[in-house]
Amino acid sequence: MQLIDSHCHLDDDRYDTDRDDIIARARMQGVNQIVLPATTASRWGKVKQIAEEYEGVYPAYGLHPMFIRSMQLFIEQLQLAKNHALPVIVHVRKAMDK
Ligand SMILES: [Zn+2]
Repeated sequence: MQLIDSHCHLDDDRYDTDRDDIIARARMQGVNQIVLPATTASRWGKVKQIAEEYEGVYPAYGLHPMFIRSMQLFIEQLQLAKNHALPVIVHVRKAMDK
């Protein structure tokens, strides 16, 4: 069975020492593709670097909902994706009433 981890913060500094092992173990379990969502703009460089380093790891440049609480920023991200014909990942946290 082939699995995709659609949301894995492999860029977290806590994984700097064992990222190779984490990805190897995931692959052994059938997880061959991993989407790495950024959390803040300051992390985009590291997200890009990791995605370039590991086959099957795909970057998702955006802003994590834990770090922004602005509907206007969300709308602007949607418009940016639309302008560039890019897919959108919507990660909903504590916003089910919206
Ligand atoms: Zn997350």
